[in-house]
Amino acid sequence: MSESGGVERGSMSDRKSERSVTDPKVIDGKALAAKLRAKIAAGVKELQSQHGFTPGLAVVLVGEDPASKVYVRNKGEQIAHAGMASFEDRLPATTTQAELLALIDRLNKDPNVNGILCQLPVPKQIDPQAIINAIDPDKDVDGFHVVNAGRLATGGQGLVPCTPYGCLLLLKDRLGDLSGKHAVVIGRSNIVGKPMAQLLLNENCTVTIAHSKTKDLPGEVRRADIVIAAVGRPEMVKGDWIKDGAVIIDVGINRIEKNGKGRLVGDVDYASCYPKASAITPVPGGVGPMTIALLLNNTLIAACRQHGVKVPE
Ligand code: NAP
Repeated sequence: MSESGGVERGSMSDRKSERSVTDPKVIDGKALAAKLRAKIAAGVKELQSQHGFTPGLAVVLVGEDPASKVYVRNKGEQIAHAGMASFEDRLPATTTQAELLALIDRLNKDPNVNGILCQLPVPKQIDPQAIINAIDPDKDVDGFHVVNAGRLATGGQGLVPCTPYGCLLLLKDRLGDLSGKHAVVIGRSNIVGKPMAQLLLNENCTVTIAHSKTKDLPGEVRRADIVIAAVGRPEMVKGDWIKDGAVIIDVGINRIEKNGKGRLVGDVDYASCYPKASAITPVPGGVGPMTIALLLNNTLIAACRQHGVKVPE
């Protein structure tokens, strides 16, 4: 299942609003994602030449949701760019849960398919959790299956959800060792907040998870060396919540209307937070591009494990 497109497509006004990537304070997710994608493409070539197989990713789209169609098309393009095999199944909005489960079963058994994702949202007659749990955990490149959540929580070898994994790589690229840092994760969804907190804990951070019932959110955030905002509320996190020198990762993607024009903003009020932060991700151009790169990375990892070969360095 894939909740988000993990890609940021914008109108001209969105593109104009992109922050300068020459500013060293701005964490350039596009650049890191491009580096990662190039490494993955080289890895795919190595697997083809040395082991004779091509990693394959199947993307399933049910229904006609316009945003999902764009996301799926984008994913198909990125899969192809990485040199992987792309399989796409588009099913009508009237598809029953049994029909979708039958497709997942076929994909689970197909040896050419190493990764499976089903674009969310699915039509209301389908229980998304039933679909997530039907995907073979070793092909669950979104990392949402309960087995992968359990592996992440217990230190097992699983597949990690792409968006939090991307955030972690951005943080490590900027800070190196995260050990001992106090991280505040705002949001506790299964796809972002919880796995993010788990990943930070695994890096020896002291982690606070905040949510809609947190009593003093600004006070909690003020103690953070690392702030992860994954809320879905435009520009909610304000500059006076930020400790001087904190690193801010803004996961939010919110489309707002300003002066009759649509634009994308994060969950962080960039203008007031920027002066306080030592580093900050822009929206767009921060976390978004990393998500899809990590999807490709997970597919590479899944394919290598299924073939019993080492993941290319
Ligand atoms: P979600 O499932 O709606 O979860 C939102 C979380 O925020 C919940 O845990 C909720 O708390 C918490 N929250 C809501 N209002 C709050 C408030 N006023 N104060 C504190 N916490 C509050 O959202 P999600 O799927 O995790 O996504 C979060 C954001 O990330 C969205 O903007 C989404 O578009 C974006 N996203 C981006 C990418 C990417 O690739 N860049 C990928 C996925 C998601 P409760 O649990 O108490 O309700």
